[in-house]
Amino acid sequence: MPKVRLEPVRGMRDLIPPESSEILWLENAFHRRASLYGYEPVILPTVELFKLFEIKSGPEIVRSMYVFKDKAGRQVCLRPELTASAARLFLKTLQTRPRPVKIYYVGHAYRYEEPQRGRYREFIQAGVEYFGEEGVSADIELLTLIRDYLRDVSLKHYKLKLGHMGVLRALLNSWSIPEDVQDEVIHLIDKGLVEDAVRLLRKLVSEDVSVIEELSKCREEDPDALMRCGKDVGIGGDALMHVKELSKILRIAKELKVGEVYADLGFARGLAYYTGFIFEVESSALGLSVGGGGRYDTLISLYGGPSTPATGFALGIDRIHLALKMGGWCMPEKAVKVLLIPLTENYIYLDRLASRLRGEGAVVNVYPKPKVSAGLRYASSQGYDYAAIVGEREVSEGVVTVKNLRTRRQAVVSVDALSVGDLP
Ligand code: AMP
Repeated sequence: MPKVRLEPVRGMRDLIPPESSEILWLENAFHRRASLYGYEPVILPTVELFKLFEIKSGPEIVRSMYVFKDKAGRQVCLRPELTASAARLFLKTLQTRPRPVKIYYVGHAYRYEEPQRGRYREFIQAGVEYFGEEGVSADIELLTLIRDYLRDVSLKHYKLKLGHMGVLRALLNSWSIPEDVQDEVIHLIDKGLVEDAVRLLRKLVSEDVSVIEELSKCREEDPDALMRCGKDVGIGGDALMHVKELSKILRIAKELKVGEVYADLGFARGLAYYTGFIFEVESSALGLSVGGGGRYDTLISLYGGPSTPATGFALGIDRIHLALKMGGWCMPEKAVKVLLIPLTENYIYLDRLASRLRGEGAVVNVYPKPKVSAGLRYASSQGYDYAAIVGEREVSEGVVTVKNLRTRRQAVVSVDALSVGDLP
């Protein structure tokens, strides 16, 4: 009977090979892709002050946070996402750098939600933040980065849903709805509870607020049809200006072939800091969003900084992994794997041999016992491509006996001429 409970805490997971290797591969692909776009990496703390998120994350996120007091009595939390920390970092350290400031991260986030498939209490987000540019070029870049990353990892079946928080905010502002009520209305709409949102508004204003219900009728793939629909449901003024911007982004997104894409005027995102263009990446296989983001032009000033436009996104690495696995995905670029079985204690010789192969990117694992048949069994069960056997005879002749575990071919190869490409 074990003396400790072996199950991780509810909602937490142990990740073991091959999943752990696959997830790391997906993370590395993100590092590569974000760097190619000129984003620089940041490493952010897992624990933050609760206040950072309380200010503008929205009720949904705040309700699902791990909040606790540290030993000095500070009210802290496990971060539920990384944008707030990135904005804090920008304000503290990066705001004096030349604009734009472009950063990316890969990190764990924590939400106390009901665990289910694709919904964990600890999960990995990979994201970018783009500070200091208010124009649509920054938003467009997010979409092409996502297109390229999903192509890199070969996730094919996804849809991009675009929206604009400015449309809803402009309508709510035109009815003089206070900001905290606006956040609640947006939260309800995000949860699909549009009728509740309308009921709440009717208690506060005498104007006709039914346009809120009409918005979701405007779900269009065509940018001109989106504009027409916006006008038809009675949107005007500032709100219509935002529909126009969304229509422009939709048109460019289609031209850039960012994937199957449509815009939905009734789409809202739960994170209350969004101010403008927003989007989500929906996986058809999972029926869940694998990523989302948008513009948050007021967050930096809400934190007490100068008005700074900002846009960004976060992808859920666990969900991307799940969606890929559902389609039978296997991790590409597997290195050649060699099990070295030493029957000698000539460590210098063994190290020279292993270093040559590792230098060419091969995995070389040294079997700890001088036992050939046990070593071969281990190698076969663990998916090794080759076994390399070195006894005293091989050492004296400067060679190694290499066995191809798939074809069963065997050859004696000189260590000085050893190369992954020349293995039998
Ligand atoms: P959000 O910060 O809510 O916009 O989430 C961004 C992405 O993080 C989502 O699209 C998901 O892919 C991922 N995500 C959010 N919550 C969870 C969770 N509980 N479990 C796994 N992934 C999540």
